[in-house]
Amino acid sequence: MLAGCAVTPVTGKNVFISYPLDFDREIGASSYAEILSDAQLIKSGAVWQRASRITERLLEVTDDPGFEWELAVIRDDQTINAFALPGGKIAVYTGLMNLAQSDGELAAVLGHEIGHVVARHSVQRLQLEQARETALGIGLQTVGENYENLAKLAPAATEILISLPFSRSEESEADHIGLIYMARAGYDPSEAIRFWERMAALKQPAGTESAGSGGGVVETIEGLFSTHPSDGARIKALTALLPLAKSEYKPR
Ligand SMILES: [Zn+2]
Repeated sequence: MLAGCAVTPVTGKNVFISYPLDFDREIGASSYAEILSDAQLIKSGAVWQRASRITERLLEVTDDPGFEWELAVIRDDQTINAFALPGGKIAVYTGLMNLAQSDGELAAVLGHEIGHVVARHSVQRLQLEQARETALGIGLQTVGENYENLAKLAPAATEILISLPFSRSEESEADHIGLIYMARAGYDPSEAIRFWERMAALKQPAGTESAGSGGGVVETIEGLFSTHPSDGARIKALTALLPLAKSEYKPR
């Protein structure tokens, strides 16, 4: 077996990732701590329990490579967003939780974030940056074999993680994985389409991509409000996958 070859869960896509899973774990934990350090976190009460319960159900059906999963609920009603970092670190803003009217709709978003993590999209972004030999004064390649440099690397990696949006195909793949996971977890997958229609409707009147943004930095991590893929294309792709997802849907 060649080191670095991996098959993406659910979609079966073959990818080459030169970093070991420990890289995801360490860079994810470090960036997560940095990004959350000035956030107002909710750790108890009904809002926390709702997000936590849904995440736990999703994780029961997630193809987990052995990550330490963590959920953060950030109190910020103005920010309609969520994000994922490598190694199982996800976060959701109360603004998005307010918009997602049912648990199924929230499961669609959290499933999408979990999808980015299991597909290792962020790490593939970093790998691409390494290949381009940009930005990082100290090469990422030193880290693959030597974790001693991780402390020096972390701030640079965080910078890349927060500034590079996912590609259109990564967004679509996270949608696909999330849709199947929510169905397996017992949430009606058609709720995903309802959620994205709600997002599309929200954007229309504002006519701007910065609608609802209170945290520009995090917005680019996720790109829920980005134009990749467009809402129309996203809803169309999810609709095409709906029969497959329904076949895996077992209501609880
Ligand atoms: Zn995404």
